[in-house]
Amino acid sequence: LDLRAEDLRNIGELGSGNGGTVTKVEHIPTKKIMAKKVVLIDAKPAVRKQILRELQIMHDCKSQYIISFHGAFVADPHICLCMEYMDKGSLDGIYKKHGAIDIDIVGKIALAVLEGLAYLYDAHRIIHRDIKPSNILCNSRGQIKLCDFGVSGELINSIADTFVGTSTYMSPERIQGAQYTVKSDVWSLGITLIELALGRFPFADSGDGSDSDFSDLEGTLAPRNKGDDSTVHYGQQRPLSEAVPLPPPRRRKQQSKKQQMSKKEKRKSKGVSLQGGGMMMSILELLQHIVNEPAPRLTPEGKFPRESEDFVDICLKKDPDARATTKELLKHPWIMRSRILEVDLEGWAEEL
Ligand code: ATP
Ligand code: MG
Repeated sequence: LDLRAEDLRNIGELGSGNGGTVTKVEHIPTKKIMAKKVVLIDAKPAVRKQILRELQIMHDCKSQYIISFHGAFVADPHICLCMEYMDKGSLDGIYKKHGAIDIDIVGKIALAVLEGLAYLYDAHRIIHRDIKPSNILCNSRGQIKLCDFGVSGELINSIADTFVGTSTYMSPERIQGAQYTVKSDVWSLGITLIELALGRFPFADSGDGSDSDFSDLEGTLAPRNKGDDSTVHYGQQRPLSEAVPLPPPRRRKQQSKKQQMSKKEKRKSKGVSLQGGGMMMSILELLQHIVNEPAPRLTPEGKFPRESEDFVDICLKKDPDARATTKELLKHPWIMRSRILEVDLEGWAEEL
């Protein structure tokens, strides 16, 4: 399919993120409905061409767990990617509208994500790099598929130049500068699953400004070991500056970094910052929290099946060597059970 900008008719905006905007479009010649993602990139024409070449791999990504790809073209200074339109949108939108997602459905989601990750890696040696609820899409047939995976190294580089490429689904080892591996995706999956099952981002509020109440942080910033006095206690409301203790010298360094942040960076980091009592937890502090504090868990204990708690725990081992691989997780009892469990995903999706 030879896609051209003039053949696409805009139907409506689906959403936008750090990297770009996604629009529902009709490809007029074929009457096909697609999702068009427009990404602003900071790259020379030769690099843009290279990106388009690399994106061609997406045509070969054929799996029921991966969004299908229709094509890409350059619309200076943007690159447009046209992909399968998923009529129920992404899981972040779904849980924000309908609340926490039932754990049996979360199990099916975990299975779909693992199958998608395993496919990308086994068939194409692709590491996703951006697993999070907004990159897991649903349609009214009850299908769950991954989008926005790191298929083009040049695209990753070009976007990284235009915005702060840090996200709060990032694993501790990535925050500390280690290479991306499939295990980093496993961490992000663990965070994502907690978010879906609890109906809120496990480290903080959703960042959309709708609920920046401090109560939201209870249990979120709380340690695994409630008796540990060095960290925050359940039910105590403290300013975030206290809730996230930072060693003074590093903190000073971070603050000066923060002060040096450009306007653009500030805008970008706003979405993941926490505001409360006049204090702001910047993304830098949040990243430091992920590195220094115990990983979040599927809590309160006993609310969810033990197997699901265990699954999340092994996704969120802070040491990547101790963390499970996608392959191992596909054999985990919770996933084995999810696989055979009869869940009416189509019925669930229809209600959305
Ligand atoms: P970020 O830029 O931080 O990765 P994001 O994933 O929300 O955040 P985009 O990838 O630009 O940002 O997507 C914006 C929104 O568009 C998503 O949240 C999703 O709801 C919607 N969307 C993306 N792709 C599709 C698609 N293929 N079909 C339907 N909706 C889509
Ligand atoms: Mg996305």
